[in-house]
Amino acid sequence: MITGSIDLVQTESWQQQLASAVRCPRQLLQMLGLEPKQMPSLDSDELDFPLRVPLSYIRRMTSKDPLDPLLLQVLPSKEEREVHPGFTDDPLQEMASGVARGIIHKYQGRVLLITTGACAVHCRYCFRRHFPYQQHQQSAVQWDSALDYIRRDATISEVILSGGDPLVMGNARLARLVDLLAGIPHLRRLRIHSRLPIVLPARIDQGLLGIVRGNRLKCVVVIHGNHPRELDTEVASGLRELHRAGATLLNQSVLLRRINDDADTLCELSESLHNMNVLPYYLHLLDRVNGSAHYNVTALTSSNIYRQMLQRLPGYLVPKLVRETPDFPYKTPVFVT
Ligand SMILES: *Cc1c(COP(=O)(O)O)cnc(C)c1O
Ligand code: SF4
Repeated sequence: MITGSIDLVQTESWQQQLASAVRCPRQLLQMLGLEPKQMPSLDSDELDFPLRVPLSYIRRMTSKDPLDPLLLQVLPSKEEREVHPGFTDDPLQEMASGVARGIIHKYQGRVLLITTGACAVHCRYCFRRHFPYQQHQQSAVQWDSALDYIRRDATISEVILSGGDPLVMGNARLARLVDLLAGIPHLRRLRIHSRLPIVLPARIDQGLLGIVRGNRLKCVVVIHGNHPRELDTEVASGLRELHRAGATLLNQSVLLRRINDDADTLCELSESLHNMNVLPYYLHLLDRVNGSAHYNVTALTSSNIYRQMLQRLPGYLVPKLVRETPDFPYKTPVFVT
């Protein structure tokens, strides 16, 4: 579908692919055979959350389609500059719940460990786009205070590697961290929340599979797929490897206007995920973060879509419809009647 330089990257390492991610909106449009005037809301000015998208993900976009659902997740839009009531920089009030450097402990038994602020892709709807990662930055040897916090609290049974995207970390660093975590007796599970298995499937390399296989913690990998067209054969083979290595595979999506706000798309997403050994976990309503209002799906539309999913899918392929609320100690179920 897309030719030229994009084909070459298949032989590059994931690090090279990460480094050569496209950062220029005009270049992206050119690769897709689109004219800037076909995208009137394009924002190509210098941004504090710039475009970033790996070639592997661009390869799955349909050329000459200004409404491609993958393109619309990553292309900066002038609508991000709009101010909307109810939308803030920190809708989950996470900036206040960091108890130790790099730790967010809001839910019982589970802690989030912020490993890095970096991501392979910049999703325009991201709720962490304004997060002060610098304050949580960990240098290579500086897990100390986070690990101490986990060691001291025996009620914690699961550590969730988050970010940013934890799989942007290299295998050596990740292995060191996982070793340290596996040495904490009350921990049972290691969870990795990452969009890399989708946007940069080459990340699932032998080193990573070795880490998943080679430690005593039960490993859960939560991927983040929003649309069935994100799931190509390369993604499928990476997921198959992770599954073979013993990881439990789950998917979370965000309900996004013009991208996946219809039951056909979401039912197909669930079916395709299941073919790749992944069970749907959460379908999140959008977090009300500044700059994302144009992705918002109304409550009425959300419940109509969800009702159709309940009718059409086997129960185990229906993700839980949830919203995050700062005051609740769990993801809040959204009830649909
Ligand atoms: C989402 C989240 C978790 C994990 O919640 P689960 O319901 O177990 O998936 C843990 N801590 C924080 C702060 C979260 O936002
Ligand atoms: S990969 Fe996750 S954390 Fe990174 S920009 Fe996308 S949604 Fe945000």
